[in-house]
Amino acid sequence: MNKLILLFSIFIMGATSSMQSQYKLDRPKLVVGIVVDQMRYDYLTRFYSKYGDGGFKRLLNEGFSCENSHYNYIPTYTAVGHASIYTGTTGSTHGIISNYWYDKFEKKSIYCVDDFNYPAVGTSSTMEQKSPYRMMTTTVTDELRLSQNMKGKTIAVGLKDRSAVLPGGHSSNGSYWFHGLDEGNFVTSAYYMEALPKWVNKFNQSGLKENYIGMKWETLYPIKDYTESIEDENIYEEPFTGEVKPVFPHDLPELKELNGGYDLLKTTPFGNSLVMEFAKAAIEGEKLGARGYTDFLAISFSSPDYIGHRFGVDSKEIQDTYLRLDRDLAELLNYLDQKVGKGQYTVFLTADHAAVQVPAYLKSKKIPAGYFNEAAFENFIREHCATRWGSSEIIEYISNFQIFLNHEKLKELKLLKEEVSDDLVDLIINYQGVSKALTGLTLQRAEFSEGMLSRLQKGYNQKLSGDVLWIPDPALIPYSRTGSTHGSGYSYDTHVPVIFYGKGIKRGITREPVEIIDIAPTISSLLKISFPNGSSGRVIESVLE
Ligand code: ZN
Ligand code: ZN
Repeated sequence: MNKLILLFSIFIMGATSSMQSQYKLDRPKLVVGIVVDQMRYDYLTRFYSKYGDGGFKRLLNEGFSCENSHYNYIPTYTAVGHASIYTGTTGSTHGIISNYWYDKFEKKSIYCVDDFNYPAVGTSSTMEQKSPYRMMTTTVTDELRLSQNMKGKTIAVGLKDRSAVLPGGHSSNGSYWFHGLDEGNFVTSAYYMEALPKWVNKFNQSGLKENYIGMKWETLYPIKDYTESIEDENIYEEPFTGEVKPVFPHDLPELKELNGGYDLLKTTPFGNSLVMEFAKAAIEGEKLGARGYTDFLAISFSSPDYIGHRFGVDSKEIQDTYLRLDRDLAELLNYLDQKVGKGQYTVFLTADHAAVQVPAYLKSKKIPAGYFNEAAFENFIREHCATRWGSSEIIEYISNFQIFLNHEKLKELKLLKEEVSDDLVDLIINYQGVSKALTGLTLQRAEFSEGMLSRLQKGYNQKLSGDVLWIPDPALIPYSRTGSTHGSGYSYDTHVPVIFYGKGIKRGITREPVEIIDIAPTISSLLKISFPNGSSGRVIESVLE
């Protein structure tokens, strides 16, 4: 009899505990979102044999890598990338359609995070007046704050203002970015606070920036071992101002004056190191992951973008940048192990876009590539309008491969928008270097489910975008003959790393297609919180435990 009761109670206990284990609200103490500016997917593999064990390799081997992850919209620029990662949707919904764009209502070109209602904090410069007001939807960081009655914290840091402001969302406790020139400090705006916290002032006065700007940028390992990149001296790179050749070593104290003072650090791997050190200071200063709530730290490493733009995808400088970033990542992960605890935090790492190899270099290897002259294109369009309709003023503005028509002028000339747009499409598609052209009206009236036009549509905002749009041929860029850029919907720009690691994440790999807008819903699902309000991505089920 006693035995039976015992067995029965064991059964009940077992059932209760298995019932309890079916649904757990077991969140990480801290989520760390890492965005590497201009990181191509293949940097993971190209330099794999040279990485240490604690950085990229640790994330790849102990985390979950989505190897077929792409941007699903055009244009692939920094602001749009950061907004899309954190909102789980694209410019058609979140409204950040480029870094700069023509505001039809204000009738001028605007910058994505400028907001002159809020003075800069931490600098006397008027350049740093920023807020996220142009982003129309919430971010995963906002939703985490809302879900915990605003008691969890969001801290965002980046070299670029837009790379801190957009990931931090509307409700960040502090979004900080780097002001170079003669100051070299992390700053913010009055949108977030009236004065910098003590720990930020302490960081700014720590002597770190002076230390870095006083160094020569030499390769981390002997340059002869950098067999994964092209010759250091080549014609596809732009030397720093004051340098004769774009080669190592780059003498920072000597270059500082002619290259924007502390802004020079942005175009060296030390820009990443500064951000990494600032992230550590934020964990300590804000007690992230140590207060009984789930906090969020959004980090953006933008030096690879500055360096890619100057030296190009295949340069020794890029290789060195990633080998050094690998060490910074290892240090950050070690710090998280100590401060938050191994297994207590969750990380994702991705990029805001990738980049094309220098077209002049590609051409030298017989691969179709080239340059698109935007000024010549604009002249061509304006001359056509003058001949065809007697006025070049029909064209109000051209930017980001979009034409904004002057709607008042059309009315005055009694021209129909539809007619003029269709005429321009016929003209543009025959222009050399153009692959596709179509009207905004076409994007409003049809739904493209896949391919390049679907990507164009996802980046097209009915209210904000232009009237005529076009897409250049592959590897054809409006850019200088040195350095790399990005912005297109081709895979060299869309294919990026997406890696998850830590609490709640399986180990593994998938080659199934993943879109960048899937990150926010996946992290929201891991945290069991509401999705960002415009989210249109899906949860990557295979990633989650
Ligand atoms: Zn970028
Ligand atoms: Zn860039």
